[in-house]
Amino acid sequence: MNFSTERQFALDCDTDDSLAHIRQKFSIPEREDGSSVIYFSGNSLGLSPKSASDFVFKEMDSWAAKGVLGHNRWRPFHENLTESTARLVGSKSDEVVVMNALTVNLHLLMVSFYSPTKSRYKIVIEKGAFPSDRYAVESQIIFHGFDPETSIVEIGPRKNEHTIRHEDIKSYLEEEGESVALIMFGGVNYYTGQVFDIKSITQLAHGAGAVVGYDLAHGVGNIPLELHHWDVDFAAWCSYKYLCGGPGCPGGIFVHEKYKNFQGNRFAGWWGQNKETRFLMEPEFTPITGAEGWQISNPPVFSMASLMASMEIIDLAGMHAMREKSERLTGYLEFLLAEFTPEVEILTPGNASERGCQLSISIPENGREIFNALRASGYIVDWREPQVIRVAPKPLYNTFAEVWDFADKLKSLM
Ligand SMILES: *Cc1c(COP(=O)(O)O)cnc(C)c1O
Repeated sequence: MNFSTERQFALDCDTDDSLAHIRQKFSIPEREDGSSVIYFSGNSLGLSPKSASDFVFKEMDSWAAKGVLGHNRWRPFHENLTESTARLVGSKSDEVVVMNALTVNLHLLMVSFYSPTKSRYKIVIEKGAFPSDRYAVESQIIFHGFDPETSIVEIGPRKNEHTIRHEDIKSYLEEEGESVALIMFGGVNYYTGQVFDIKSITQLAHGAGAVVGYDLAHGVGNIPLELHHWDVDFAAWCSYKYLCGGPGCPGGIFVHEKYKNFQGNRFAGWWGQNKETRFLMEPEFTPITGAEGWQISNPPVFSMASLMASMEIIDLAGMHAMREKSERLTGYLEFLLAEFTPEVEILTPGNASERGCQLSISIPENGREIFNALRASGYIVDWREPQVIRVAPKPLYNTFAEVWDFADKLKSLM
């Protein structure tokens, strides 16, 4: 890609940006002087669509006006999100459902898909996985009566490297695959921003006779996904990061069609019960076929309403166009950092196909002070110990001019 260090170049890119109009649909937080902050933390909490409050108040008003008589609308409320979610993750509509929070869903899916035996009991995860995932994996292993010490396998970067080599995942599975029950990887690592080759890892896992699931917290809405075609067994994600659903908004799950009539372990609840017979209130559990059968409780309507607002916008923008802009926007950030602050080390892979929108930059000396100074001047990035600043320009609402201003600000602070 051809870039230039002139600020005018960034302004020209914004003029040519076919997604530029999408930014107007979001509320951008302001500095004290009324100017917009530069918000690069959409990988942590996505910004609020302006339409979200209308979506939420519509349901609040129905509740006020109708009480329980509004229930016909709320009972299948999660279904409002199914089609757009399926498009985003590349699945059939009965392979996905929006429900619960992410870690809760990882537990529910491990209950069904982690069935350790004496000879096949290990769970392979990426080293440096998000702590919640590790806690979940460890507690599942203990729950099944196995020892985390010998049952968790972490594949990490080699010495003096920051990201994980695909060949190392491959050789582990080829050599030790017989003892692996489950591979549970991120789609995109939250710390380094590295994208894993989901399609290839899935093939390797299946070749080893193991089940494979993904935590797509940083994948969904960030990189294109084809979960059905890639033959992924299961996946889960949250919706408050890249999907802009709002704090605490329910996440989603994918369960491949081949488990449509799943008969294994499952923690059941009435929302997973066949819809035809659910309200007969009978004791026998006959699950809905497909992903909806994993539901336990009735849907949190207000949070889902706000997610409906953002999914409408994401659908309008389209993942293909988002990804195209994202590669350019993050490529531009990488270019400017190399030009303006060559002393800063970027941990994220340099190859666009191995990263999403985030760059993780490592500042060993006075990183914390620089981070504080950025925050104080309205540059919303985040800090991860011991020395990393995560910067995530998002194609939905960030501009090339913001990227230029950030790189220029960082240069002045270094
Ligand atoms: C954000 C994130 C979580 C958060 O889990 P919740 O259950 O939604 O609180 C878990 N795992 C990963 C990889 C994340 O990025």
